[in-house]
Amino acid sequence: MGEYHEVRSGKKIKQLCKLGVIDDWRYTRRSEAEVLRPRDAGTNTDIPEVLRDPSTLWRFPFLDEDAPPTHDAVVDAINRRDMFRTITFLLNEDTTLCDGVNHDGKYVWWGDQGIGNGGALSTQFWLPCPWSPKFEAVRKLAPTPGVQRPIAFITIYGERYDAQGRVRTIFRCGYCEAPFSMSPADLHEVQQANRDRCGEALLSRLAAREAAAA
Ligand SMILES: [Zn+2]
Repeated sequence: MGEYHEVRSGKKIKQLCKLGVIDDWRYTRRSEAEVLRPRDAGTNTDIPEVLRDPSTLWRFPFLDEDAPPTHDAVVDAINRRDMFRTITFLLNEDTTLCDGVNHDGKYVWWGDQGIGNGGALSTQFWLPCPWSPKFEAVRKLAPTPGVQRPIAFITIYGERYDAQGRVRTIFRCGYCEAPFSMSPADLHEVQQANRDRCGEALLSRLAAREAAAA
């Protein structure tokens, strides 16, 4: 399976865009890969396989990136995208939303990172995600009451399709980046909590995609 969409231009093969196979390559929506498929040169890509693969992560359909369903319009829209774009949702303090998600931690550098001194002044330690049960131990060790569980937030990561073509939005923990999807009830909670921060249009698109997945 390849990750690039290529088309024939005369005798040459022209590389146009990336398809959603690896996490950070989520430039293309699944519906757009369908539009691109008829003109795929097929040298480094097998778009039908990509469409069937349930582990493939596609780009979430941000409204302002919508393009008419023609090959050239889709390619143009893809080429103008910010690959690192994301949307952040805040969660209520008492949320149970992330229960059941395997929150890991992160390695954090502390001190001079060592260029020119061999790293003698730097150290690295593992910090559990604030939404992991292990974080309670860190709070108890802290000598001041300043170490509290910070505001919970999650980001949209992309979306996945199952073998029946049903779509689920994939989110990530804002701290440890653990991926997960949500039940309709949890999603409703997120929408209520973010009604004033995120546009109605975005929230209703999110709801529509989750309804299609149910
Ligand atoms: Zn986490």
